Amino acid sequence: MLPPDPLIPWFENFVGIAYRYFEIRMNVVPLFSDLKKAQIFWRETVHWWNDHSIKIRFVETGDTYWFIMGAESRQAKNNKYLFKVLPKSPHYERFKKGHEGGAYLRLGTHTKKFKKDVKDDSKCNCGHIKEDHEEGDDNDACLYEDCDCRKFETFQVNLLKKKKTVTNIKFLTEAEIKDDVLAWNCFSVHKYTKRE
Ligand SMILES: [Zn+2]
Ligand SMILES: [Zn+2]
Repeated sequence: MLPPDPLIPWFENFVGIAYRYFEIRMNVVPLFSDLKKAQIFWRETVHWWNDHSIKIRFVETGDTYWFIMGAESRQAKNNKYLFKVLPKSPHYERFKKGHEGGAYLRLGTHTKKFKKDVKDDSKCNCGHIKEDHEEGDDNDACLYEDCDCRKFETFQVNLLKKKKTVTNIKFLTEAEIKDDVLAWNCFSVHKYTKRE
């Protein structure tokens, strides 16, 4: 049981969530802008979570959804809950359909890469691969006529090895959250009592 505790700090200083098939379960991966931040967050917070107590809640609000995660910690003084409002994405929809009640929780990094950093078949954010972009250091534009991409840029996600198993995952509507302590707590703090 996760009591509503106003003293537990909410943490939203991460860049998003990746959903990846990796090993036998789907992975839910909070993404950090650099490896050090991810490692520190694991060491100080996630490491101390009891796997069976980890809860993830998804609450859809139009085109966005709230990602909410919390757990009991063996080191309560360092505990934090995560939350972030994110745009719905195909990866999210795939996870929603395919998770089968369980997931691995891993942390990851999300880094920007440029043409010189990647292989020829790497995909640009415009959807076309590196080979379809101009060659040379100063020329970068996509060669597809109907594409207005001027610079090859791609995001790479790296997963950290350490993982926890999460089996308490729920998708809720906003009307349903009053029956869920974790989601209710989060919405209370970040939506319903927000000071202007
Ligand atoms: Zn491009
Ligand atoms: Zn393109």
